[in-house]
Parts: sequence; structure tokens; C-alpha cells
Amino acid sequence: MRKGTQLYEGKAKKVYRTDDERFFVIEYKDDATAFNGEKKGTVAGKGVVNNRMSNILFRMLESHGVETHFVEELNDRETVVKAVRIVPLEVIVRNVAAGSFSRRFGVEEGMELRRPTLEFCLKDDALGDPMINDSQILALGLADEEELRTMSAVALRVNDLLKDYFSGIGVRLIDFKIELGRYEGRIVLADEISPDTCRFWDAETNRKLDKDRFRRDLGEVEEVYREMLERVSR
Ligand code: UDP
Repeated sequence: MRKGTQLYEGKAKKVYRTDDERFFVIEYKDDATAFNGEKKGTVAGKGVVNNRMSNILFRMLESHGVETHFVEELNDRETVVKAVRIVPLEVIVRNVAAGSFSRRFGVEEGMELRRPTLEFCLKDDALGDPMINDSQILALGLADEEELRTMSAVALRVNDLLKDYFSGIGVRLIDFKIELGRYEGRIVLADEISPDTCRFWDAETNRKLDKDRFRRDLGEVEEVYREMLERVSR
């Protein structure tokens, strides 16, 4: 597999074509942004953590029948993935109130939810990723009914699998965001699953082990990213 020309550069990753049109190569960077790009910085080693951790989690999910874009890890920062077309929606699942959910509904961060919630946001930085509901997604033609059902089911299944997995390594999965893509007519889990896209709290102390340390200037950002990779690598 030869890495070809760059197709896209996002906030935390670059995407390259390859000599095989079925595949892309993703390169994870150390760049960090928050609050829709207003806050910028770098977290040394973050790209390595997010690449390796995403791949470990994608392999775990595949072993439970969830199709992902993962093909092959090339090195610390680069992975071959299926050349999916990303559905322009962010799918957020929550188990515990935090972040925008706590702000929007006036509930304390850390409140256990009676059941997981599912939210969709339109992936559009210029608009600030507004929340969007099922009827709006269908009306705008962003996905059809079957795709919407599949995306919702995949998100909830991924939540069940991740919750169990992380509880086994002493981590509470508070919430997370996934992105899905279209590949050969199927909906496939894509993007990444990492401390950038999930909230992880230590099961014993509730210490934050994710990007909130960067967003909220809590310090020890590099350390907790490294610690999360160590825990999933054991
Ligand atoms: N999230 C993400 N990318 C986004 C927005 C949210 O990865 O553009 C993740 C975030 O890390 C958290 C979950 O989705 O794990 C829920 O985020 P929330 O809506 O609470 O947003 P925030 O508090 O980050 O503004």
C-alpha cells in the first residue's frame, strides 16, 4: 500500500489517498482544538495515543460484529482504513450528564442517566455543529430512514460494548461521539475513538482521563492520554 496525495486535513488528522482506491491512510497529529476551534494547542504524543487506542477499540468492536473502517496499523501515527464517505453527522451517546448536556438541561455534571441518550449534530464547523433531529436529517436528505436506524443501533451497540470494555480497565465511559461512513452500500463505523472523542473518568476517583483536561486547563494532559493508552494496551 503506497500513501498517495493528501485528500484532506482536519483539526487532528490528515487523510491521504493510496494507490488502491478502496483505501485511505489516516495520519494522527498532536494538534488539539476545543470550543469549535477557538482554543488551539498541541498535546505531545496525542496522535500516537489516538491512533493506537482507536485501532485497539476498533479491533475489539469488530470481534463483536461491528464493522469499522479499520484495515491495518502502519506505524505509531498512521493507519490504513476503508475509503468511506463520511456521513456529515456526529452521533453522541451519553451515560452520565456532562458538558453541553449539563449546560443545556441544567443538570449537575456526574448525574447518572436512567438510560443512554442518543443525539445527532450536523458536522459543520461554520454553523457550530448544531443539534439536529431525525425528521430534520430525513428532510435534508443527510441519511435515509434505514441508515438512520442503522446509525442509531450501531451507536447504542458500541456504547454497550465500550462501557463493558472500559469498566474492565477501571474506567467509566461518561459519553462519546462517533462518526459513520458509507462503504460499498453499508454504514461503517469510522473516524476515531479516543480521549479526544470520549469522556473517561477513573472508576475509583472520578479523575478525568480525557480531553476535558485540555479544554478546562486541568493540567497533566499528556499524562492522562498516555495512561489511557497503557490501560487499553494491558
Ligand atoms: N465530542 C467530540 N467532538 C465534538 C463534540 C463532542 O468528540 O465536536 C465528544 C466530547 O468529547 C464528549 C461528547 O462528544 O465526549 C459529548 O460532548 P458535549 O456535547 O458534551 O460537548 P462539549 O462539552 O465538548 O462541548
